[in-house]
Amino acid sequence: MHEDEALYPPVEPFGAGARGCCPRCGQGKLFDGLLKLRPACSNCGLDYSFADSGDGPVVFVLLILGFIVVGLTLWMQVNIDPPLWVHVLLWVPLTVVLGLALTRVLKGILITLQYRNKARPGEIDRG
Ligand SMILES: [Zn+2]
Repeated sequence: MHEDEALYPPVEPFGAGARGCCPRCGQGKLFDGLLKLRPACSNCGLDYSFADSGDGPVVFVLLILGFIVVGLTLWMQVNIDPPLWVHVLLWVPLTVVLGLALTRVLKGILITLQYRNKARPGEIDRG
């Protein structure tokens, strides 16, 4: 049996990742600040050097946020027809805030799933 499974019960990856919790124990914090990862878990000591979500969260943020903001902008333009400054005042802050929040949540989920599925870069077996 794997050491992690013997010491820690399985953590639900979507809940723990969305809360920014450790993928092994589900108690310690994953982030140091808004988007920066801690070097290790403060509760169980899991080294987070394995964690590399790359561009994964940003792709999902762009798709989800683009759908929401562009859809709302088009709806508002067609139905209300406000001046341009109303669009700028509404959509720029909404995009920034939702973008940062969604990036943090999706980064946590992808790192938790990476840990749970033991994902790592591909290797060529030459032996
Ligand atoms: Zn932990």
